[in-house]
Amino acid sequence: MIKVAINGYGTIGKRVADAVAIQKDMEIIGVSKTKPSSEAFIAVRKGYPLYIADISRRDTFEKEGIPVAGSVDEMLKIADVVVDATPGGIGETNKAAYEKAGVKAIWQGGEKHELAGFSFNSHANYTDAIGRQFVRVVSCNTTGLCRVIKAMDDAFGVIKVRAVMVRRGADPHVVKKGPIDAVVLDPPTIPSHHGPDVNTVLPHINIVTMAMIVPTTQMHMHAITMELKKEVPREKVLEIMKNHNRIGLVAKNTAIKSTAELKEYVMDMDRPRSDLWENGVFEASVNTVGNELFFFQAIHQEADVVIENVDAIRAMMGDIKDSLTSIRMTNEAMKFTAL
Ligand code: NAD
Repeated sequence: MIKVAINGYGTIGKRVADAVAIQKDMEIIGVSKTKPSSEAFIAVRKGYPLYIADISRRDTFEKEGIPVAGSVDEMLKIADVVVDATPGGIGETNKAAYEKAGVKAIWQGGEKHELAGFSFNSHANYTDAIGRQFVRVVSCNTTGLCRVIKAMDDAFGVIKVRAVMVRRGADPHVVKKGPIDAVVLDPPTIPSHHGPDVNTVLPHINIVTMAMIVPTTQMHMHAITMELKKEVPREKVLEIMKNHNRIGLVAKNTAIKSTAELKEYVMDMDRPRSDLWENGVFEASVNTVGNELFFFQAIHQEADVVIENVDAIRAMMGDIKDSLTSIRMTNEAMKFTAL
């Protein structure tokens, strides 16, 4: 069993913990929090040993009835891999501790590519992650872009990608962040960082991205145009998407045309936390004009990277050598069924 620690039991960390806990070849040996919170209580309820970064705060937790298993350094000593899901920018301050403990570490998209020196996407570069000590799982938007670009590139060849990201303002529980009533260019300059981030995984892709933030918490929406190396009927594109195990087609006959309706649909499917792990490509939007492909896809920011972290763990441990085996194992454990 691969022993996995989660440093930073928040939005992403708690989801990765639950996903790891149900894999046949992995176990959670500990999760960490910095202060008592609703998530700390949930970790205890789920039976995850809770470690804390600053052990001098042990009393603060125990006073609230939250048992503390030890310090984060102690957690690192018994882990094979630590998934660092601390807020963006904090993760890099943990690198020295991971080096000292000799533990493998995975950072998230809030950290720079250079921190790990390798950016990961299950379908694009699983085998290149085999045996690595440090890996970064790219952000939610970059993950969604990489999946679909890689699929189209493998099938038809991609000349260039132009994409507009309409990003959610904050995660649903984040009450102090906006915008409440504005569309914010983020950044006002072009390109946004998403294109260069895709190039950390797929360096040969010609991509330019633009991004804005809108007052919603549900999901991001991407408007994507791709120039392909040949003219392709839309049915061919739909077939590739339909057969892809991490691209979900939002069927035209569901009449879903918003992130809110899609979230409700996934909730009705009884997915844990109503998480959409796959790209939600709107079938009705998929169109080709000559060799240009157009479509909209919804990306659930809290969910799509979770399953990528699970595959990254397997790749780094090196026992499962091919991506499709790991992807299948992960999806099956999650009881992942098509949209
Ligand atoms: P979050 O704020 O929801 O959770 C972070 C957790 O880390 C919190 O529980 C916090 O208490 C804990 N923490 C803070 N400092 C710590 C420390 N020094 N040691 C241990 N724990 C500490 O953040 P998040 O949204 O889960 O983001 C985590 C990472 O995932 C970031 O790099 C982010 O960019 C990336 N990411 C976030 C999303 C998203 O939409 N939420 C999507 C993809 C990737």
